[in-house]
Amino acid sequence: MYKIIKKDGLAKRGRLETVHGTIETPVFMNVGTAAAIKGAVSTEDLQGIKTQVELSNTYHLHVRPGDEVVKKLGGLHKFMVWDKPILTDSGGFQVFSLSGLRKIKEEGVYFQSHIDGKKIFMGPEESMQIQSNLASTIAMAFDECPSSVASRQYIENSVARTTRWLERCKAEMNRLNQLPDTINKHQLLFGINQGAIYEDIRIEHAKRISELDLDGYALGGLAVGESHEDMYRILDATVPHLPENKPTYLMGVGTPANILEAVDRGVDFFDCVYPSRNGRHGHVYTNHGKLNLFNAKYELDDRPIEEGCQCPACRKYSRAYIRHLLKAKEMLGMRLCVLHNLYFYNTMMEEIREAIEEGRYKEYKKQKLDSMSGKQI
Ligand SMILES: [Zn+2]
Repeated sequence: MYKIIKKDGLAKRGRLETVHGTIETPVFMNVGTAAAIKGAVSTEDLQGIKTQVELSNTYHLHVRPGDEVVKKLGGLHKFMVWDKPILTDSGGFQVFSLSGLRKIKEEGVYFQSHIDGKKIFMGPEESMQIQSNLASTIAMAFDECPSSVASRQYIENSVARTTRWLERCKAEMNRLNQLPDTINKHQLLFGINQGAIYEDIRIEHAKRISELDLDGYALGGLAVGESHEDMYRILDATVPHLPENKPTYLMGVGTPANILEAVDRGVDFFDCVYPSRNGRHGHVYTNHGKLNLFNAKYELDDRPIEEGCQCPACRKYSRAYIRHLLKAKEMLGMRLCVLHNLYFYNTMMEEIREAIEEGRYKEYKKQKLDSMSGKQI
């Protein structure tokens, strides 16, 4: 179901066939936390900005509206009216980053909802059940995402537990996929490599989870405050120990430069809130660097955000108009910036795929990085 079409150095151009359609990789998954991309972007809009995969958050949908509700309404695809692939994260990251009080036990994590303070328990089985109710295309394993500054001893224990949790996730997913009332009986499961910035722990863990023959493998616990150099060092060390013939997903990454560097190290799935979050703040990406549309110099600028960009914002509207909307706090301003930014990311992924196919990835990467680091225009 996943195959590599072309390799250029370590960069891989792959294709993952799923029940909800084909994913051409490298791919950037567009983050719609609570089953919508923030900035009033609908699934209909996604059709026009080259989105291949939508990513939703298990934890958020579990606390509101509730995964049982989504299941009763036919699953996330029907609920959102989106028939292409959806990836759901496991809820683990949010449990560890959002919730206040929490207790980690062998069986799972006890924590409080950030919405109403309600006590919740989530372990590997619960996470799989919630994701099965949501009926996403790809489910992520439930793992602990420890702080990047935790001690080596803590990381070792945490990673060992994450491995035991992964075995439980796999068994539970197999069971759920065979139940008669399961909406997506072909739900895929990706495992997650952890180990903070310790190369040896990462490598051991990568080898261990590779034996489980999962549908894909992610690197978690990166882009959580460590330096870019540390992140690239961990990728250099770890990716070669993950199965090449499976999707390789770097969770929560990142800037365009991070993505270009990670592709060069064999990663082909990405997701990040940057394009939507920055867009909502009037920060837009261009091939010549990022612009802050709140800046006074755009007051009379009647050019589009980027000349030649075919996104819904640039085809019609000027920087001056969008700047005005942002300043007047009109929702359309945010919406246009988010659409442009996602289109920019999705188009960059298209360029990356083409460059790998044509065996000129290194050259493309250099040219793109040089151009993007140019002065603001
Ligand atoms: Zn645009």
